[in-house]
Amino acid sequence: MEIRRFKLKITSYERIPVLDHGYVELIESWGSDERIIEAARMSTDKGFLGWGPKYVCDKCRVEGVEGLETCIEGSCLGTVKRVEGDEKLLKYLYEHKHATPFEMAGAVFEIQAPIMVFREWHRHRTQSYSELSARYTSLPNVNYVPTVERLMLNSKTNKQAGTIKGADELTEEGARAYIWDLECEYKDQEEFYQRSLKMGVPKELARVHIGVGRYSRMRAQANLRNWLAFLTLRMAPDAQWEIRQYANIVGEQLSKLYPRTWELFSSGRSK
Ligand SMILES: Cc1cc2nc3c(=O)[nH]c(=O)nc-3n(C[C@H](O)[C@H](O)[C@H](O)COP(=O)(O)OP(=O)(O)OC[C@H]3O[C@@H](n4cnc5c(N)ncnc54)[C@H](O)[C@@H]3O)c2cc1C
Repeated sequence: MEIRRFKLKITSYERIPVLDHGYVELIESWGSDERIIEAARMSTDKGFLGWGPKYVCDKCRVEGVEGLETCIEGSCLGTVKRVEGDEKLLKYLYEHKHATPFEMAGAVFEIQAPIMVFREWHRHRTQSYSELSARYTSLPNVNYVPTVERLMLNSKTNKQAGTIKGADELTEEGARAYIWDLECEYKDQEEFYQRSLKMGVPKELARVHIGVGRYSRMRAQANLRNWLAFLTLRMAPDAQWEIRQYANIVGEQLSKLYPRTWELFSSGRSK
């Protein structure tokens, strides 16, 4: 079987800002919609045959153009028929959960996010991670401060975003006061951290008081099948708003790399 080279539709290899100090950066990717088809066709030794639709004469098999009903190849006069391309196979694989070919593509992202986002992210065991270590380097003083709008986004439909029983209703003034207190808290945390490091407390212990709002950085790698499983959970409305912002960016990048698979994923989500 001939091995074809497919040009990847390069998406932006730049840091896309998320939240107040976070980012998502595509580091590398592999595979393509075409490679997924090629992998699936190993069973029949046929490879990728091309995307459709194509308009083919049922008599001489010459390709025509859309809108032409009769073949004009010599004196053929056969009927030009619309023939589906490999998008049909891709759809079949996706809808019937023949998922292994989707593992032939994948991507690595670098992510800077609050530790609380990583706590949720790392539950996804099918990704590989490598994260900044506060045992080996002191933590950068970068902390997440939610906006007033975010604090007021207390969805009634999402139980996990709720407040405790008997809590007051948060006002804009209350949200601003919270932000002020939070910034003071972060400042105190950092002062204590630096003081502890200077007095010789080991890095691995000097961090014990630091909260989950502190930013960390990691690389995460997964194949396309597992990225889509991650996005199914983390782009959903019941996922925490912060991780959703990251998942949306990962999704945008994947949509450019694997547009046909992405279309199937998106239409599956909206059903
Ligand atoms: C909205 C939301 C709320 C959540 N709330 C909580 C919570 O309150 N407390 C909490 O602890 N977690 C919570 N989680 C985390 C959740 O339980 C999962 O751990 C997380 O979403 C990872 O999903 P996963 O296991 O499908 O992913 P992965 O670990 O990436 O696994 C992908 C798939 O591989 C298979 N798999 C992987 N490992 C195993 C295994 N050991 N055995 C069998 N099959 C396996 C499964 O089919 C799985 O779906 C929440 C998640 C979401 C999205």
